[in-house]
Amino acid sequence: MAGTTFESFDAEKLEIQTAKQLKALIPENELVFGKHFTDHMISVEWTAQAGWASPSIKPYGKLELDPSAICLHYGFECFEGMKAYKDAQGHVRLFRPDMNMARLNRSSARLGMPTFDPEELIKVITEFLRIEDRWIPSKRGYSLYLRPTIIGTQSALGVRAPDRALLFVIASPVGPYFSTGFQAVSLLASTDYVRAWPNGTGDSKVGGNYAPCVLPQSIAANEGYQQNLWLFGDDYQVTEAGTMNFFMLWQNADTGRRELITPALNGLILPGVTRNSVIELVKSWEAETGIHVCEDKITMREIIQAVEEGRVLEMFGAGTACIVSPIKRIGFKGQDIHIPLDPNEPDSEAGPLTKKINEAIMDIQYGVVEHPFSRRI
Ligand code: PMP
Repeated sequence: MAGTTFESFDAEKLEIQTAKQLKALIPENELVFGKHFTDHMISVEWTAQAGWASPSIKPYGKLELDPSAICLHYGFECFEGMKAYKDAQGHVRLFRPDMNMARLNRSSARLGMPTFDPEELIKVITEFLRIEDRWIPSKRGYSLYLRPTIIGTQSALGVRAPDRALLFVIASPVGPYFSTGFQAVSLLASTDYVRAWPNGTGDSKVGGNYAPCVLPQSIAANEGYQQNLWLFGDDYQVTEAGTMNFFMLWQNADTGRRELITPALNGLILPGVTRNSVIELVKSWEAETGIHVCEDKITMREIIQAVEEGRVLEMFGAGTACIVSPIKRIGFKGQDIHIPLDPNEPDSEAGPLTKKINEAIMDIQYGVVEHPFSRRI
């Protein structure tokens, strides 16, 4: 959103009220995703009349909402998921925070809610992380997960753009997604449910996209699959892998070259920060690896044919939580399609490219390698 002017709050006006009593830190081996929260939160109120109020950092605590608050009835809610990392020198780093801010603004605007200047929220988050420094784990694979959220708080029923909103940020220390090394997942390709449709909200990070995916996900779990592979259309095009973007390394039947393919951003796909980073990194390695990156449509028929012809080399999902998650099996119309992991290492749960991407992104996140994707704050 460079060059755009925003009606925004001003980080210079930040008001800070620190907690009187601090919580006990959670031992690293007891960290469970999204269960424990830090001592403080960021809060910024917005009204249609006065715009954004001054941002504040205050003790983590309950929100006061009227039962008629519009977010409780019509899904006026959007959010982000991003992480703060500590490098070997003890510096705190964010991974491409500008992309999360831009996406939050797009999601909020999609729901008729306010936008803000991304750099102002990054400044407030920077101050917040200074206060919460003791909560940011320093071990590789560990981080402080940040959940920026915007809700419509207008206390009146009626489906319309809210005249009051609240932006808040909470934070939860998290451990590695795969604590004992990669564990490849099985996906049930969903033909009874769709996650997103043309001109809908699948490309926004709105709460309303998530709750409806829980029933199909429990059906998949009952059948022995960890997540759904989301499809769309009569030709069963692949859109996303659970709450991750989908990638496949294969040999293109027409060109014969090795390609890393991911569905193009056609409105049905959440534009993942990890997705974009994987694309950029693998593109930058093309001279070395010979792997070409391609954003295009992928159908189940193409995948089945490529698996039968031995042309599928690796498959994985990509997202902030796991970076990459290898895929080993897809259930589709009563059949299981088996995806190779690493042909050279029969016990390995991830292929060579999947592992290389994971290490490269971690090296950037933890400042082992200096890269423009990592912002030291
Ligand atoms: N798709 C969906 C539906 C998601 O919820 C997420 C997680 N935000 C992703 C993809 C991955 O996005 P990111 O890399 O920005 O975490």
